[in-house]
Amino acid sequence: MLDLKILRKRNISFANCPNCGVQFTLDRVKPETFIQKYSKLIGFKEYHCRKCKWTGYLFIYKITEDLKKVFLNYIIVIIIFVLLVIILRAILKSMVK
Ligand SMILES: [Zn+2]
Repeated sequence: MLDLKILRKRNISFANCPNCGVQFTLDRVKPETFIQKYSKLIGFKEYHCRKCKWTGYLFIYKITEDLKKVFLNYIIVIIIFVLLVIILRAILKSMVK
């Protein structure tokens, strides 16, 4: 199947803290409030830094490393779609006659 995913999940446990810059210190905050629970629907989750006590929201997705490949896959899908439309129109025209 063609890979059409532009966004990929980041592995936050390997990410650097946005405040102190230290790696491997971020823990997910257990979602309890409405905002904490539903912010993930737009790609944000709340994290807490064990080292500097920073707490905040991080975007859990990143743009794929194979952006060129994914972009080419979109072009392929569009070409296939256009060809299908042309073929279907040709078939419909020949049926009307
Ligand atoms: Zn920190």
